[in-house]
Amino acid sequence: MDTRLILAWLHLLALGVGLAAVWGRARALRGTLRDPDDHGALRRVFAADAWWGVAAATWIVTGLWRLFASTEKSLGWYFGNRAFLLKMALFLAIIALEVWPMMTLMRWRRNRDLRTPGNAGRIEVISYVQCALVMAVVLAASGMARGYGSTGGVPGEPGGGTSPPASDSAQAPAAPAARAARRGDVSSGDSLALPAVPPIEPTGVETVTAADLALLASEVAMPLDGIEASSLRSNYDEARGGGTREHRALDIMAPRGTPVRSVAKGRVLKLFTSVAGGLMVYAADSSERFILMYAHLDGYAPGLREGAALARGQVIGTVGSTGNASPSAPHLHFAIARSADVTAWSKGMPIDPLPVLQAAGRRR
Ligand SMILES: [Zn+2]
Repeated sequence: MDTRLILAWLHLLALGVGLAAVWGRARALRGTLRDPDDHGALRRVFAADAWWGVAAATWIVTGLWRLFASTEKSLGWYFGNRAFLLKMALFLAIIALEVWPMMTLMRWRRNRDLRTPGNAGRIEVISYVQCALVMAVVLAASGMARGYGSTGGVPGEPGGGTSPPASDSAQAPAAPAARAARRGDVSSGDSLALPAVPPIEPTGVETVTAADLALLASEVAMPLDGIEASSLRSNYDEARGGGTREHRALDIMAPRGTPVRSVAKGRVLKLFTSVAGGLMVYAADSSERFILMYAHLDGYAPGLREGAALARGQVIGTVGSTGNASPSAPHLHFAIARSADVTAWSKGMPIDPLPVLQAAGRRR
């Protein structure tokens, strides 16, 4: 079973069921107002209310599952996305509006004599407002799916006026800094405005030991041909995302189409596409202790599949500028993270790739 598909289906289905139910509740309440002795209308109020509850519960469970299991995107991506935050705010408004109707209808269920036309009318109005809010949630969700509201996946991005409003414009400021990077003289000041791929986020349980670094140095090789690790400068600590976080990866400038090679023996964990990273490969090394991530790829190697075994040096794709890389400055964004569980492919403690690649180069 494809859990992601099932969760997305249930999440959307709950929206449809919920919209119909809350609309039906409003209509049935109007029926009870017209004729207080219409017990059929009252039964319809309770039935619609029950479906509304089922929809809300399904919505919350599938939503939290998708969010915290990171089945779609990382937690940082969601909380850096304004369309997502809007969607959450609208959802909380729906829940807040529901508190009083829920209590009132529970009292009605216990004792039908407590019904008053005033309360029925108020719940009817609240239900219509909730209908409108559900439709606004769908709009925010559609916006999210179309890439609106993304700030390049900055965790904790305050949403201030300095960051680009939408994904399209996020590409613009990258060009000068990326050109400077090719000349090898990026200062952190230049790259402050540079949107970049969000770092792999630690879960809090990973630690990086000297033995880990030694193992990495024994198993990795450069991902691009013709580039000496000793000639590169680390951009791991550079500020990105308007200074809200650090890069936590290595950018290597290379012409578009340059083959990208798996740095280690291992397997493909995930072929992923994100607004910030474009076409990405998440792989595990053969010890299954490390996650190796390659971003901004122009394309995948033919036949590359999730779960496929990788040999060191095997071509997995080509250098490009997908995601928020500047089209004029194609490069490989390469990250390494110590993982506690490689099935959580987007989680781990970042490790600066450059010293590891340099140590590997010295060993050979
Ligand atoms: Zn990068």
